[in-house]
Amino acid sequence: MNTYEPPIFELSSPGKQGANLPELDVPAADLPTDLLRQDDLTGFPELSEPEVIRHYTRISQRNFCIDTGMYPLGSCTMKYNPKIHEEAARLPGFAGIHPLQDAGLSQGALRLIYELQNDLAEMSGFDAVSLQPAAGAQGEFTGILVFRAYHLDRGDTERTEILVPDAAHGTNPATAGMAGFKVVELKSDPRVNVDIADLKSKLSPRTAGMMLTNPNTLGLFEEQIEEVSRLVHAAGGLMYGDGANFNAILGVVKPQDVGFDFMHYNLHKTFTTPHGGGGPGSGAVGCTAALAPFLPGPRVRQVDSASGATYELFNPAKSIGRMKTFHGNFGMLVRAWTYIHSLGEVGLREVAETAVLNANYIRAQLGDLYPPAVDRICMHEVVLKGQLRGVKGVRTLDIAKRLIDYGFHPPTIYFPLIAPEALMIEPTETETKRNLDAFVAAMRTIAHEAAEHPDLLHAAPTEAPVRRLDEVRAARQPVLRYDADKFAQLRNGS
Ligand SMILES: *Cc1c(COP(=O)(O)O)cnc(C)c1O
Repeated sequence: MNTYEPPIFELSSPGKQGANLPELDVPAADLPTDLLRQDDLTGFPELSEPEVIRHYTRISQRNFCIDTGMYPLGSCTMKYNPKIHEEAARLPGFAGIHPLQDAGLSQGALRLIYELQNDLAEMSGFDAVSLQPAAGAQGEFTGILVFRAYHLDRGDTERTEILVPDAAHGTNPATAGMAGFKVVELKSDPRVNVDIADLKSKLSPRTAGMMLTNPNTLGLFEEQIEEVSRLVHAAGGLMYGDGANFNAILGVVKPQDVGFDFMHYNLHKTFTTPHGGGGPGSGAVGCTAALAPFLPGPRVRQVDSASGATYELFNPAKSIGRMKTFHGNFGMLVRAWTYIHSLGEVGLREVAETAVLNANYIRAQLGDLYPPAVDRICMHEVVLKGQLRGVKGVRTLDIAKRLIDYGFHPPTIYFPLIAPEALMIEPTETETKRNLDAFVAAMRTIAHEAAEHPDLLHAAPTEAPVRRLDEVRAARQPVLRYDADKFAQLRNGS
């Protein structure tokens, strides 16, 4: 893998062509001279078709992906994405449709949106769903704007604070801050539930709501969820559910039943629409009947008539407005619908049960070497610590990098912030026991290497297309364009 591959520019030789354009068979256009290019095009690589194909195929294989191996990146739910979803999303009736097309010609697409709204509502217990937001973070932002609109609509203008536990994902406080609220941080108790005494001391007539992830970012179910919701509601606040971890409770717990008023679903996590590389994703949102009038539109409703059901767009009465052009990321909605309908009710519950079983299997197999951050049965992910018993001078980062040499994508590391040296492992339900055992074996081998040959870990990865990167420099001084001199410098390590 480490053999040097010349970049495509260095393979170029003058005059070589990768494409043959046919003879012009229409009259040449008479373009105004001031629009014509004055100089020859230069600086482009000239290559044959096989050279170009090999170049792009080679670089496609440099990325780790779920189609080549286990990707236990905690919090991200990197489960396998079934290929039938891609076929469904590419059906000409879905892929070729135009969002401005008349509703009468878009009935199939509108029906799919309507059914997905209902499916998501059914799973969560909520009364209404909007599929507009493009990501979990945008779903959060939508929810907090809805909270604000709800309070203001009742003439309650004093609610300026959102409570966020210290275990929260960074998007939660960022969302509340962006929506203009003051973020009030809540402490966790020793079992990493919300500290009830701390919550009570911070609730007030200024409380607009609370944002809670359940199971939380340590993969732990909030054991006092009903008490937390009761207290927040008693203070006049609303409960926001960060549904990024919904995979753990699909078909088992309905968020509305335990007191949530609003939640986002990450369709790209729980419902296997592809994610990574900046999107597109989908952060659909659901809520109670009281908040439904404020949801972003358009939503889809069914109209029954003598000749059968039809589907039409509508805007909720007091809508906060659009969050996204047209109907959200429609291709993602097709994939999520396909996933839900190919698994069915029983299959979806099995997803959650298997995801939880797999995470606990890893916890049980590795807990003797890698101390769990919290000694509790976990949900769909487990947070272990990279502080190996009896080993000094090896960091969590070294362990993560060494895993790459064994063919695994590293887990999420150093998150959540309240767990020092965190290794956050989310195997998902789509890994076989054989794969889980191979991962466990690699982690156990790495623990022994850490004690016997720590330099192997410090040097890792040695088997990947690139070695350990200077991540700070990569972020501060990104090299986004090919420059032969700079490339040579980087290659020589200067
Ligand atoms: C992934 C995640 C988010 C953000 O979702 P995006 O779709 O990446 O914007 C929020 N909270 C938690 C707990 C998450 O894991």
